[in-house]
Amino acid sequence: MNCTDVFTTELRKKIDKTKEGRGGKGIYKRRNSRSYRVIIHYSTYLKILKKNKKILNNYERGYAVRVKPKDYFDNKGKRKKNFHNSLKLGKNAFLYFKNINDWNKYKTYCSNFQQVAELYTKSEEVSNEKQWTGEYCKFITNTTPQEISLICASGTRTNKHEEEFQKLKKNYGKNVPKQAGLGNYDYDYASEDEIENVRYQLSMMIFRVPQMKDELKLLMPELNDKKIGDVEKHVVNFCKNNKLYDLNKLVEIRALNKKDLAPICPLCLEKLNAKSFFEIAPQDEGREEEDNTQSEIVLMHIEALAPGKFNHHTYNLGWGHKHCNTIQGQYSINETLNNIKRILKNQSGN
Ligand SMILES: [Zn+2]
Repeated sequence: MNCTDVFTTELRKKIDKTKEGRGGKGIYKRRNSRSYRVIIHYSTYLKILKKNKKILNNYERGYAVRVKPKDYFDNKGKRKKNFHNSLKLGKNAFLYFKNINDWNKYKTYCSNFQQVAELYTKSEEVSNEKQWTGEYCKFITNTTPQEISLICASGTRTNKHEEEFQKLKKNYGKNVPKQAGLGNYDYDYASEDEIENVRYQLSMMIFRVPQMKDELKLLMPELNDKKIGDVEKHVVNFCKNNKLYDLNKLVEIRALNKKDLAPICPLCLEKLNAKSFFEIAPQDEGREEEDNTQSEIVLMHIEALAPGKFNHHTYNLGWGHKHCNTIQGQYSINETLNNIKRILKNQSGN
């Protein structure tokens, strides 16, 4: 049995999408599991080392540090003395070229380097550091023709990229991954277990939305109370067994209403309506796009996602309005409330 067994296809997708990190361009993976290898900025890496090196152990499938060429090369094209000695290009770090001036300035220093390539997307046998190779890659789009390495080229692959890919297969075997980025954004990371816990806690809250069960039966006439009841029981039991059923804690983070423990939007505190989970948010007039099917209700993070914080976790997520989520942006709920207070205070002239 699965937590989404009595949900509509859309609702199931909404839950399953929480497993994925966001897609990115260039070196970032397209829509991969949050548990996947992460890319860390060099500046973030240094901050983590200062704070607590053990934070890095959380990335179960490893990490790769993206380094600006100017942070690596000295004037003579040698490795800078102060470049952190725990990093080695091709092992846990790579040079990332994003603009043509940098490439022109440093490319001769890269003549003995290989371009980044992913050798395994997932492997139990091969250590994380050996699952990819290469010292540098390019994602330079502000020049004609663009300079884009194979690993960064998903969606815009040219014949030259195909040739490189065939060469890679020849060197590393035909099972080499399709080279669609090397990792996820570090702030999206969550372990496999935590990803699953989040799915269950979020599903459990959906069952608590008033009239949700009636709505499900309306949308899927083949459902009956027993079937819904069985799945809800399964979800609640999973939550209880994994310490995900502290409803007071969910009240504290503003995911549930204090009065009747029903889900509320963590920003505006309004009760969520069952129908709105299945509705598509209205689009701005004149800017409507047929392929934009964003729902009225979206996932909200109470504390914002940030590198090394691992904030995609249970008791930090709730369901809320798309509009409120847009207002929140990259901030925590508290920061957002303070921002709104400041704005309103200015209006009153004090
Ligand atoms: Zn709201």
